[in-house]
Amino acid sequence: MSMIRFEAIRESLQRERITVQESGRRSEHFAINVFNEERMLQYLTKDALASVKSAIFAGSKIDRKIADQVAEAMKAWAISMGATHYTHWFQPLTGATAEKHDAFFDLMPDGRALEKFGGGQLVQQEPDASSFPSGGIRNTFEARGYTAWDPTSPAFIYGSTLCIPTVFVAYTGEALDNKAPLLRALNAVDEAATAVARYFDKNVNKVSATLGWEQEYFLVDKALASARPDITLTGRTLVGNLAAKGQQLDDHYFGVIPLRAISFMRDLELECTRLGIPVKTRHNEVAPNQFELAPVFEEANLAVDHNLLLMDVMEKVADRHHFRVLFHEKPFAGINGSGKHNNWSLATDTGTNLLSPGSTPMKNLQFLTFFVNTIKAVDSYEELLRSSIASASNDHRLGANEAPPAILSIFIGKQLTEVLDELEGVSKGKLTPEEKTELKLNVVGKIPEILLDNTDRNRTSPFAFTGNKFEMRGVGSKTNCAKPMTILNTIVAKQLQQFKKEVDSLIDKKSLKKDEAIFNVLREYIKSSKRIRFDGDGYSDEWEKEAARRKLSNNKTTPLALQVLTREESLSLFAEMGVMSAVEVKARQEVELETYILQTQIEGRVYSELVYSHIIPSAINYQNTLIRNVMGLKDIYGAAHKKFSDGQLTIIEQIAGHIEALKKKTDAMTEARKRANALTDINKKAFAYADNVRSYFDEIRYHCDRVERLVDDQLWPLAKYRELLYIR
Ligand code: ADP
Ligand code: MG
Repeated sequence: MSMIRFEAIRESLQRERITVQESGRRSEHFAINVFNEERMLQYLTKDALASVKSAIFAGSKIDRKIADQVAEAMKAWAISMGATHYTHWFQPLTGATAEKHDAFFDLMPDGRALEKFGGGQLVQQEPDASSFPSGGIRNTFEARGYTAWDPTSPAFIYGSTLCIPTVFVAYTGEALDNKAPLLRALNAVDEAATAVARYFDKNVNKVSATLGWEQEYFLVDKALASARPDITLTGRTLVGNLAAKGQQLDDHYFGVIPLRAISFMRDLELECTRLGIPVKTRHNEVAPNQFELAPVFEEANLAVDHNLLLMDVMEKVADRHHFRVLFHEKPFAGINGSGKHNNWSLATDTGTNLLSPGSTPMKNLQFLTFFVNTIKAVDSYEELLRSSIASASNDHRLGANEAPPAILSIFIGKQLTEVLDELEGVSKGKLTPEEKTELKLNVVGKIPEILLDNTDRNRTSPFAFTGNKFEMRGVGSKTNCAKPMTILNTIVAKQLQQFKKEVDSLIDKKSLKKDEAIFNVLREYIKSSKRIRFDGDGYSDEWEKEAARRKLSNNKTTPLALQVLTREESLSLFAEMGVMSAVEVKARQEVELETYILQTQIEGRVYSELVYSHIIPSAINYQNTLIRNVMGLKDIYGAAHKKFSDGQLTIIEQIAGHIEALKKKTDAMTEARKRANALTDINKKAFAYADNVRSYFDEIRYHCDRVERLVDDQLWPLAKYRELLYIR
């Protein structure tokens, strides 16, 4: 066995086990590192608190004097908690988070030292951000962008640093991050949904989108991961023969969590609790070494921040526990990949979940309104929603036959389908009193009972209604949820606006009663959005054919999926809803394409390295052993050696065949890469990488994995699947 692999295995086996005990009442630690309302009450004057709350609730501006007060309070609290630095925490288009720490410590002109942090530093900073992707918005010679405080997401202390969530914008006003468009989309859905919710309850003044994500991930021993160039550089295994035992026994799913993993989780949960991330559920997932963590849902902007923070905390805690956490959507072939279901709903400031039926027919009509409008929105903009979850790594999941397909469809279950079918039959225009009674009692009135026993669960649907929320399942485990949440809330906002217009016009022009008008418009939506509803097996080939007949998009690669972003209809939608300007959309498309190209390019290079520096040398080494053996047999037995060396000769030839194929395919892939790199048009380049470069990966992998099966285990340099996948 190669030294590196041997040492890594030994290290992983001899590891001291860190045990972390469950920490009792977690509510006692909850959010102690967060500058939340409780802290603000303690540290802020009444005026300052009112101003911050109105900024959170109504988006009002905080004036400079108040900002100074808030900064002073934050500083006092942070220092009392042992913080020494502060940072503007933001989400550049890399998909991760960025931070640049500054010390509170400063020198006065007379040389005395003090801790300084004022409103100026709280509200706005100018990080030297010239190296973040901007998709051409910001030319590097005028690389000016600034970060601005987002008071809707509370500041928190992480390590010894006070982190202030911020948006990141260019001086010319364009958003350079994922948070600014999200905030705009949340604002749009707030306005549109509030207007519609007021049909049912005049007390509603604000509607917030809610998000509960479910984070899937893999844990791999750090030493073993480091012994693999592919995991180190790409976050996934590019080669690796499947272990004899994978997930076929289903013995990992919801099984007993391994001791090392549970210690990691306890440690992680404690950190999360202190940071105010309300983690709640933990369990084993389907694949060995795969786990899931889910929180209590929150307002969407906060939930997005918490998910990003969580991923960062996970990496740090994993390191302490000698793990590497893999967020890649498909770290191992042959077993399940990881996703991040986004559970989404809309909540009013009066405490109502708009996707939850209530106790009166009117409440149920409200539910139906938001339910049907969401379906209609997804139907109208299915391709846009698909684009929001496209990435090089998620391409391994979407459209592969284990995860939601690249085709968007909605599952609502049998009973709700029956309700919609009945509504479809409602007569046009005014309703007779009998019709109204029938509708209210027998259709709308029955919804709560229906949902109570709606145990119907379709795991293959990419967008499923699960009782009181929709669950978007195609989101990748690595993805920043801000992207799908921006699109989903934008399209629902647009749809609700349209709905309001139509209902109002029926009330005004046709003098229909409000509920009649609502029934009428919903009926039309139910009819026109039928093609998006599909309750069958989303993984099946028949569905792919059926979806094509329904003219639903099926964009299997990222470059294909991203095209829709810059189509005229999309640009005008984003502009109309105030979410992104054409420049901002084009910039994002360019950054996504560029990221796709670079990630595929890196994988291509790692393949070359693996093939030429690891796989072929090991193959030759073993082949030489066999050759020496055959020559020895020949020395002893002369011409009769054939009787004993047939098997060896076959393996020698098989290895030779694989070496030749590996060399050919790897060289051809490198050539294809060169040709792709020579293209200057970013779209063409991305397609070249998708169609001409990436297409070699599976072929190369096939021969690598065959060689792994043939070569002496002692000579194999890379940690094997069975070593990586079973935490001891
Ligand atoms: P699953 O069976 O899909 O794992 P769970 O019920 O365990 O479903 O988790 C669902 C997730 O949905 C949790 O993170 C939960 O916080 C979230 N969730 C529940 N209600 C809402 C809601 N109204 N809005 C957004 N998310 C929600
Ligand atoms: Mg789920």
